Order: sequence, then C-alpha cells, then structure tokens
Amino acid sequence: MSAESFFYPRKMGRIILTGMEEVMGSHGVDAVLRLAALEQYIQNYPPAGSERDFSFETVSLLQSTLEQQFGPRGGRGVALRVGRACFKYGLKEYGSMLGLTEVAFRLLSLPTKLRTGTKSFAELFNKHTDQKVRVEEKEDRIYWHIERCPLCWERKADEPVCHLAVGLIQESLYWLSGGKVFDVKETTCIAQGDADCTIEIDPTPFS
Ligand SMILES: [Zn+2]
Repeated sequence: MSAESFFYPRKMGRIILTGMEEVMGSHGVDAVLRLAALEQYIQNYPPAGSERDFSFETVSLLQSTLEQQFGPRGGRGVALRVGRACFKYGLKEYGSMLGLTEVAFRLLSLPTKLRTGTKSFAELFNKHTDQKVRVEEKEDRIYWHIERCPLCWERKADEPVCHLAVGLIQESLYWLSGGKVFDVKETTCIAQGDADCTIEIDPTPFS
C-alpha cells in the first residue's frame, strides 16, 4: 500500500454496492463488477465494518464502469439514482451519529436545517473516510467542495463526473427538508482539471 492510497470504510463500499443493486438488480451489479474486473465483490459485498479498505480506485472504477455499461448519458442517470438509493443505507449506518433526527433539529427553520445538515454530512466524511469535504455558503448558495474525491479519483473527463455525489446530496436534502426538491448540480470537477469537485446547492426548494 503506497502513501498515496486513500480509502472509504468497507461499509461504505457495501452501501454503494447495495445502492447499485437497488437500481439495477443483483445481476446488473454482477455485470458491472465483471466489466470492472472487480470479481472479488460478486455476490460478496464488503462486510459492514469501519476498517478503511475500500479504495478510492475502486469507487472511481465503479463510476467509470457505469458509463461504460450504460453509455455516458445512461451512466450518469444510473449514478444519480444510485446516489439517491445510497442515502437511505447510509442513514441506517450513520444516522445516529449525525444528531439530525432529534426533536430539536426538527424544529429548526428550513435554511438552518440545510446549513446544519450539510455541515454534519461533511463532518461525517471528514471523520470516517479519507474523502475531504468543505462546506461554503456564499451568495445564497451552499457549496459542497470535495477537496479529495473518490468518485473521480485519477480520472480525466471533459465534464463533471461525480454524479453519485449529486444524487446523494439531492436525497439528503429531500430528507432534511421533509420532502422538498432542490436544484443540485456539479459545477467543477477534479477530473476536468479543477481544484476540487464542487456541488452547488440552491437552498430554495422547487416545491
Ligand atoms: Zn470528483
């Protein structure tokens, strides 16, 4: 293992594969894993431990393989849906650590909920994974800056490719707000040469 290696905890690997299974079925996941030459995970997802051994290379490879399997547009749609599906499994694993389910949190105003929620999600990644996230609020927007990003790890692309993060954040905002839909998009991406991957959130809901 080189000093340059970064990891998610194995249970996050499990969450991603479980989210994929919800979207494409278990045969679909098998096909993606085969195409990615990640046969070791076929019908054998990582166990639910917090050891950090699900590599950024693997996370990135799963994303690029979705594009290979479903085409660039199709792969993007699938990755968004996988991100949304992952939220629920992530909440099951990490929800109690976030402190967002308590009565006091439910009484906060929507803007405060979004601010507190995105910060506490960022802390979770910073504390429990090698992913680095910084939340910035500027000019009526919330920016989720992924400064070390597993989704596009060592990729080169002409457009942002961290769609799973967009789906995950969309679903987390839906949950935080009790069922509202927000405009969430990736505006910069390390894969296209930017300094970080930025997910821009418009905190005014569509509905
Ligand atoms: Zn990225």
